[in-house]
Amino acid sequence: MVMTRERPTEAEANILLDAQRGYIKRGNTAVRCPRCGKPLEYRCGESGETICCTDEYCIVVYSRGI
Ligand SMILES: [Zn+2]
Repeated sequence: MVMTRERPTEAEANILLDAQRGYIKRGNTAVRCPRCGKPLEYRCGESGETICCTDEYCIVVYSRGI
């Protein structure tokens, strides 16, 4: 079985998207993972944007721009 990040609940996703907006506006965010409290990481790639927990088995949200 391959370990993978979990899909967040809607409430968790909203917190992550809020953090993503912070990254886009200011290049950083004070928001931490709603599940484990670790910092969040934002990546912007060709296939879209990703905001995820720095714990590789925690949660992630994919989006295609805002
Ligand atoms: Zn986490």
